[in-house]
Amino acid sequence: MTLEAAKKRVNKLVEQLNNYSYEYHALDKPSVDDSVYDGLMNELKKLEAEFPKVILDNSPTQKVGVKILTTFNKVDHETRMLSLNDVFDESEVKHWADRMIKLSGQTNNNFFVDIKMDGLACSIIYMDGKFNQAVTRGDGTTGEDVTENVKTIASVPLRLHAKKGYEEFLKGRTEIRGEIVLNKKDFDKLNKQRSDEGLPVYANPRNLAAGTVRQLDSSLVAKRPLIFRAYDILVTPSSRIKTNQAAYETIANLGLIVNSPSFGKSYVANSIDKVMKAVNIWADKRQTMEFNTDGLVIKINDRELFQKLGIVGKAPRAAIAYKYPAEQSTTKLRDIFISIGRTGAATPVAILTPVVLAGTTVQMATLHNEGEIIRKDIRIGDTVIVRKAGDIIPEVVEPITKLRDGSEKVFKMPSVCPECNTKLVKIKEDEAVWRCPNDECPTRVKNTIVHFASKAALNIDGLGEKNIQNLLAGNLIKDSADLYKLTFEEVSKLDRFADISAQKLIDSIKNKTKPNLAKFVFGLGIRHVGIQTANDIVSHFHSLDNLIKASEDELLSIEGVGEVVAESIVNWFSDPNNLSLLSKFKKFGVSPAEAKLSKQIFKNMYFVISGTLNTFEREEAADQIRSLGGTFQSSVSKETTYLILGQNPGQSKIEKAKKLGIDILNEDVFNKLIS
Ligand code: NAD
Repeated sequence: MTLEAAKKRVNKLVEQLNNYSYEYHALDKPSVDDSVYDGLMNELKKLEAEFPKVILDNSPTQKVGVKILTTFNKVDHETRMLSLNDVFDESEVKHWADRMIKLSGQTNNNFFVDIKMDGLACSIIYMDGKFNQAVTRGDGTTGEDVTENVKTIASVPLRLHAKKGYEEFLKGRTEIRGEIVLNKKDFDKLNKQRSDEGLPVYANPRNLAAGTVRQLDSSLVAKRPLIFRAYDILVTPSSRIKTNQAAYETIANLGLIVNSPSFGKSYVANSIDKVMKAVNIWADKRQTMEFNTDGLVIKINDRELFQKLGIVGKAPRAAIAYKYPAEQSTTKLRDIFISIGRTGAATPVAILTPVVLAGTTVQMATLHNEGEIIRKDIRIGDTVIVRKAGDIIPEVVEPITKLRDGSEKVFKMPSVCPECNTKLVKIKEDEAVWRCPNDECPTRVKNTIVHFASKAALNIDGLGEKNIQNLLAGNLIKDSADLYKLTFEEVSKLDRFADISAQKLIDSIKNKTKPNLAKFVFGLGIRHVGIQTANDIVSHFHSLDNLIKASEDELLSIEGVGEVVAESIVNWFSDPNNLSLLSKFKKFGVSPAEAKLSKQIFKNMYFVISGTLNTFEREEAADQIRSLGGTFQSSVSKETTYLILGQNPGQSKIEKAKKLGIDILNEDVFNKLIS
């Protein structure tokens, strides 16, 4: 990037980020998710690091919050209230720790680790042990005087109650800093009340807490269950408190809620490995906290050293905020291509500048269909918000149009299939999806076989997309049934195969000559027939022959099968090409059979899995659930009975389950249920 281009981009980013900050800090009404703000902020930081000449005075990297505009009295902070620099992965934590060693000259630093609360930062001043004033962080230098409102918060004592040994803090000025938070369940209750009264709802507990504290009517504040959770104490001389751990102990012994009751949630680590251990433990556990958290705070424990290390820009050097992988972020949409699926659906796919989402690097995202691109006005070259929730394919949520520089291009949907040049059609006029109608389109054929061999269907070992491509290119197969007539001699001649791998492939195909009928039916790739529907129809018809003869009415009598599905199944089995495919399977010795039923202990129960399980592959777990009569769902809904959590579960699934009052199980409990 040239300096000139960097300057232009920085101007745009600063303007947009400052707008977001104003909405968030001054209006308590953010228009985007925090991770979107963090994504753009990250881009700005990188540009500023590469081109220091482009740093603007009003850059959000240089200042805390926004200037205060309310009618509250303004109060200057005696000591600035700072922000924290964010880090997003282990390598950034290590990099920071290495800098601490370099700057301090000490290799044996202790780190104090605590949960980062997502609330409104506030400072409370006690004079001779008596509550004197409460001030918001504001722009870090000047805050708002919210004394009367904070006085009403039950967890803020009007007099400090010093336990034995802490009486000295009742003399002179004691400033206690923390966050005002609202527990998630109270937020849900209050928001529901607001929506029942026709009032606008708040985006999250942080905004509702901030909006409440900045109310002019204190009696209204008193009615809301706000909580003040402290994380710092400032006294003179500061040397009276040696470590951040001791600061927490002091706060607790003065009668306030410290952000780690009984010091269980914060902890002191004497190495970065131990810090990372806390990061990993809290990745899942923080979801169970009663209030929202947005990461961990890692500080140098020694307060004298902390001070010595000083401040850069708006944040102390000796502390960082570790942010957990977000499900949303921002990136550049570099191009759009059309992907042809096995049913012929022509899906526009975005090629992205790689971005980390929910812990994995994402380079492509679905744009669903042409209508969606037009409706959202997504253009090539746009900065876009992308999302990946749990196991769902990443998608482009929307473009940030204010960041456009005029070079963006409008996308035009091609009229023909990019793979076989056949004219794209819409099967029904009002359908959103364009399709390639050519059953012999090479990509459709390949994807149909890929689907047949996939884990969720026949699960044929060693038969991934590349090998299927290879078998097709070598003219050895034309459809899924042909897999069963492959010989060792044929396969071993192909480029990608050695003798061992060729034999392995032949063996694993042979292994699947008596496949589970439901998986086989699913593997045929009939439109609208997912694995659950395949299971439902197989438990009704019991054999392929019965299913071939099934009428639409009989199909409709099965729970979960609607008109669209029934019609699609009947159409599929009345197509002569499909019937000859089935005959071919028979000819090559494939005889699918219904799996023996286990005791149906999960009957009428619906399961969702989020994250990676230790004991099972996701598909295996789904199979287990189905074989016990349960239903496996991909997303949490009112029907869900249990949400099972593996490692790195999706935050949105957990939030939704909690909102709907759905039981959340860990993997151990799930395993016990199965056994
Ligand atoms: P920050 O508020 O994320 O971090 C600094 C603050 O963390 C401190 O001031 C402190 O009050 C707080 N904190 C919480 N727990 C703590 C603990 N245990 N120990 C020490 N401090 C603790 O940083 P910031 O730069 O002031 O604000 C940026 C945040 O606001 C980001 O999370 C960003 O996503 C969000 N934001 C969102 C939007 C939006 O439009 N969605 C706009 C602007 C900012």
